[in-house]
Amino acid sequence: MLDSRNNYRKKLGWIATGAVCAITATACLSDTYNTQSIIGLCVAFLLLCIIGLSFKTTTIQHFRPLILLCSLVYFGFIAGGCNCILFYFQGFILFLMGKSAFWLSFTVIMVILILSVIFGSIWCGWLCWLGALQEFIFRQNKWRLLKTKKAQKILIYIQTLLFVSLVIWVVISQRPVLCAYDPFVAIFKLKIFNWMGYITVPLLIISSLFIYRPFCRIFCPIGWLLYIIKFIPFAAKLKLVGCTDCRKCHSYCKTDAIHDREVEKTCILCGECKRANCSFI
Ligand code: SF4
Ligand code: SF4
Repeated sequence: MLDSRNNYRKKLGWIATGAVCAITATACLSDTYNTQSIIGLCVAFLLLCIIGLSFKTTTIQHFRPLILLCSLVYFGFIAGGCNCILFYFQGFILFLMGKSAFWLSFTVIMVILILSVIFGSIWCGWLCWLGALQEFIFRQNKWRLLKTKKAQKILIYIQTLLFVSLVIWVVISQRPVLCAYDPFVAIFKLKIFNWMGYITVPLLIISSLFIYRPFCRIFCPIGWLLYIIKFIPFAAKLKLVGCTDCRKCHSYCKTDAIHDREVEKTCILCGECKRANCSFI
């Protein structure tokens, strides 16, 4: 049953890869005002498919830091954070409200969601430049901040509340509201735009030093959506098999997503726990 589900998902993965290739080729040949960012995103999605198809191999794992670094440098510092995933999320809501100008945002979020159902949360673990920035800032420490199962639950409740608040704010304002407060754009553009930046930028940097990906785990609406879609029965997620509760894999998981012999839905599919030689499917 599990094997046939995996085979079915693999076939879907190949179909998705073919579709992304076709869209990339079309984008390369077309000439619209945002062709460059569309091609960049298509390449990122293509990479996501390749990682998804080869996730179980050990070779691909060695490339994760490099992939994250390239994503951070290109989409973050070179593109100036303007391919902002938070903007796309707000555009996604506005498109659903009938504002067709945000078609690109809607498409980007839909592609991320569909690929995440097929391959799992690889977007967060391997490609997102906002996650990459926090990951590179983080320093291992002896404090057990937000590591318990109870802390994870509280984080999800807070994230749910913030998600709902953001959606209501966008719906009421009828425009992307976060851009002026986004600390990532300020960091990527190396410029603080308003007084809020003097609070949010240090807050992001200092919290990321001590907590692994604090923005992702407390605020990010995309992270929340990718958490929720794991409730879909056929959505891809990591599972431990034949666990003897030796807990070796726990020490590799910086999101602390492994509890009671199970991988929680907060897993970002970074694959680091594979180093513990446990069996995952
Ligand atoms: S949770 Fe949000 S910010 Fe974090 S890696 Fe995922 S999409 Fe990026
Ligand atoms: S369980 Fe933890 S270490 Fe393993 S893939 Fe998920 S987030 Fe990464």
